[in-house]
Amino acid sequence: MDKVNVLGVNFDNKTFNQFQNEFIGRLNEHESTFIVTANPEIVMAANENPEFMKILNDDADYITADGIGIIKAAKMLGTPLPERVTGYDLFTWLMKVADERSLRVYLIGAKPNVIHAVQAKIGRDYSGIRLVGAEDGYFDEDLDLVACRIERTQPDLVFAALGSPRQEKLISILRKNLLPALMMGVGGSFDVFSG
Ligand code: UDP
Repeated sequence: MDKVNVLGVNFDNKTFNQFQNEFIGRLNEHESTFIVTANPEIVMAANENPEFMKILNDDADYITADGIGIIKAAKMLGTPLPERVTGYDLFTWLMKVADERSLRVYLIGAKPNVIHAVQAKIGRDYSGIRLVGAEDGYFDEDLDLVACRIERTQPDLVFAALGSPRQEKLISILRKNLLPALMMGVGGSFDVFSG
């Protein structure tokens, strides 16, 4: 079974390693890719918001199980998923890939002091990364305008830490515009990474 449905959300039935191989393949091919790491809060929110559910099931290319609650639910439903694949683990791995390959990275989200600390850490520990954008997530601008700004920088990787469903809304716009980047909503990952 390729997909496992947990409360309406179609999770990919893959291990961390299988996701890594697929993402590297898509990065190499410059394929537009939208990754969602869905935790129980996201699944519950999608059940109350049809527009969000549609973004997850129709727009995202991959949905990983970000949390033991999803793994437990899948098992109880008789359709187990192999393992937890968290947004933070994928984010830190992709940052290493970006560093090794000198990729173009756009970061959007978190508080101004947090994004500054993330920038400083990249300069110190990930000097191979070409940081083409780093902005905080406290703006009133229309997401379409933000998407245009991101597109102009031609990133290989886009990480949005705006909370859900806003981060997924932004990435779904970029995905529909076929931005040839690997894109992922990362929730509170910048806060953890900066600390
Ligand atoms: N965030 C943001 N702009 C907002 C609200 C939240 O950039 O208007 C950031 C927040 O600073 C944090 C991240 O989004 O870094 C995740 O926020 P939260 O933990 O509230 O969302 P969740 O991960 O629970 O979806």
